Amino acid sequence: VDSDPPLSKLLKAVGDGKATLKSGRSVVYWMRMGDLRISDNRALSLASAHAGKSDIPLVVVFMLSPQDYTAHDRGARRIDFTLRNLALIKGSLATLHIPLHVVTQPNRRTLPQAVITLLEELDASAIYANIEYEVDELRRDIEVCKAAKSKGIGAIFVHDKCVVEPGVVLTKNRAYSVYTPYQKVWLSKLNADIPHFLEDCSKPHPNRESVRATAKFAKLFDSEVPESVPGFELDSADRTKMKQVWPAGETAANDILLRFLRTKSRSSQLGAVDPLTAGAEDSSKRSRISVYDAERDRADKDTTSRLSPYLAAGVISARACIRATLPPDTNAKKAAGSKVDGGKTTGVGRWVQEIAWRDFYVCILAAFPRVSMGRPYQEKYAAIVWEGPALEDAYTDKPGRPISQTEVASAASSIEKWKSGHTGYPIVDAGMRCLNEMGYLHNRVRMIVAMFLTKDLMIDWRVGEKYFMEKLIDADLASNNGGWQWCASTGVDPCPYFRIFNPYSQSTKADPTGDFIRRHVPELSSVRGPDLHNPPAPVADKLGYPRPIVKHGEARDRALRRFKDPGMA
Ligand code: FAD
Repeated sequence: VDSDPPLSKLLKAVGDGKATLKSGRSVVYWMRMGDLRISDNRALSLASAHAGKSDIPLVVVFMLSPQDYTAHDRGARRIDFTLRNLALIKGSLATLHIPLHVVTQPNRRTLPQAVITLLEELDASAIYANIEYEVDELRRDIEVCKAAKSKGIGAIFVHDKCVVEPGVVLTKNRAYSVYTPYQKVWLSKLNADIPHFLEDCSKPHPNRESVRATAKFAKLFDSEVPESVPGFELDSADRTKMKQVWPAGETAANDILLRFLRTKSRSSQLGAVDPLTAGAEDSSKRSRISVYDAERDRADKDTTSRLSPYLAAGVISARACIRATLPPDTNAKKAAGSKVDGGKTTGVGRWVQEIAWRDFYVCILAAFPRVSMGRPYQEKYAAIVWEGPALEDAYTDKPGRPISQTEVASAASSIEKWKSGHTGYPIVDAGMRCLNEMGYLHNRVRMIVAMFLTKDLMIDWRVGEKYFMEKLIDADLASNNGGWQWCASTGVDPCPYFRIFNPYSQSTKADPTGDFIRRHVPELSSVRGPDLHNPPAPVADKLGYPRPIVKHGEARDRALRRFKDPGMA
C-alpha cells in the first residue's frame, strides 16, 4: 500500500470537488470521530457556505459503526466521549436550526452505500467531510466519493486534522521519516503562510427556521444521540469518572487550553484543578506553558496541557492551539508579521513542537499506511523474536517458531501483570494503574511502560498498542502507533534499540517527589526516598507489593541480543 497510498487516491477521486455539482435540496456535512466541534471546522464551514449560497438547508450526519470500532480496537471510553460530545453538538446545532442526524450502521461493509442512500433521501447536492487518514477510512471514503459523483452529487473531502497537512512538508517529493528536519520545514512553511495554515474557519450560518417544519428534515431533529453503543458500554463508575476528569464540549476544551496558557493565579479563576494531580502544584504564578520546556517530563506535576483527548476527538482544532500561542490580540488572518515560536529554548516553542509531532505521525500514517497494518516501519525488525506465541494477525517473517506451553503461559502472565500494574516496578505499575483509572497517562510514563513491555518483557509492541487503544480516552491511531513503534525501536526515527530505558533511573527523573507512584500504588503510599523507586525485597514483602517479574539487567541483555540479530531467539 505504501507505493500508492490511499490518501492520494482519495484526493484524485475528489478532484476539484465541483465539476459534478447538481442542484439539490440540502447540503450534508458528514461529521466523524475526529472532528467533534462546530468552531473552526473546515468541512463544516465549507458545507455551510455552500448551503447558504444555494439557500438550502445544511444537515449534519454522524454514522456510528460498531463493527469499525471492533476492527480498529476502539475503546469504550473513546466511544463514550464521542457520544457525550455529540449530545452537546446536537443541542448547539439545534439553536441554529441545523439537524444532527446520528445513524447506527450495523454493517461496516455497507456503510458507503448507506451514506449514498441517505444523500439520495435528503436530495443532497453535495457531501462535505474532513479527511480521516486511517487506511480503511480512506478506502471507504474513496468508495463514497466515487459513488456520489456517479450520481451527480458533489463529494468534497478536505484536510483539517493537522496544522500543516500531509503532502506539504516533503523531502525530494517524499514524506520525511526523521522528525527534526521535518519539524524545521514544518515551521518554516507555517510561518511563511500563517493566514492559510492558521485560518480560523467560520462557524456555520443558521438554517431558516422553516426547515423544522419540512417533513424531510423535521424527523432528523427528533433523532436522539444514543447513550451508548452496544458492545462498548462503560460501567457506571468509569463513566462518572470519565465525565468528571474529561468533561465534553468545546467550552471545556477552551478552558483547559486557557488553564495551560494563563498564569496560575488567573487560571485558578477558571476553577479548574487538574484531576490527575489533584492540584498538587507549586505556588508560583508562572503559566504552565512558560515552564513547559523545563518541566514537561514531570509526571508528578501538572505540567502539560491535558488537551490530547480534545485534540484526538477534534473538540478543539490543532490550528486553534497554535493560534493561541501567538501574541495576544493577533488576528491570524492578518498575522503576516507574527511568527509561531517552534524553537527549542522556550516553553511555547517546545509545546508547538509537540503539536508538530502529532502532524508528523499523521504524515507517516498517510505516506506509509503499512505501519498501521501491523508492519514495523523498519522492515528488518519484522523478524524480531518476541516472547510468547505469534499474534493472530502476526507479521512475523519467521512463523512456526517452536514454542513451549511454559513460554505461552509465562508470556500471558507477564502481559496480565503489565496491564494490571503488578510488575514489581513501581513507576511501571503506577503508570498502568493511572491508565486504567484515568484513561490517560503522562507522555514520559507512556514511554517508560512501553519500553518496559517491549524491551524488558520482550512482548510484541502491538499487544501494548492495542491495550492503549482500548484504555486511552485520547486514543489516536497515528500518535499511538508512532509512540509504540518509537519505544519498540521499530518505527520512523525511533529510539535506537540499544538505548533501553532503565526503569529505576527513569522513575527518579519522572517522579522525583514520588507523588505519582504513591498516588497510584497505594501499597507504597508510606514509602519515602529512593526505596519508593526500587523497594528492597523485605519492604516490598511487608507491604504486599510484588517482587520484580524480571531482572532489568538480564532482560536488557536479551533485548540487545534479539535486536542486534533479528530472527535469533
Ligand atoms: P502536551 O505535552 O500538552 O502536548 C500537546 C499536544 O501535542 C498533545 O495533546 C498531543 O496532541 C500532541 N503530542 C504531544 N506529544 C506527542 C507525541 N509524542 N506524539 C504525538 N503527539 C503528541 N497521543 C495521543 O494523542 N493519542 C495516543 O493514542 C497516544 N499514544 C501514545 C502511545 C505511546 C506509547 C507514547 C509514547 C505516546 C503516545 N501519545 C499519544 C503521545 C503523547 O503521550 C500524548 O499526546 C500526550 O501525553 C498528551 O498529553 P498532553 O495533551 O498533556 O500533551
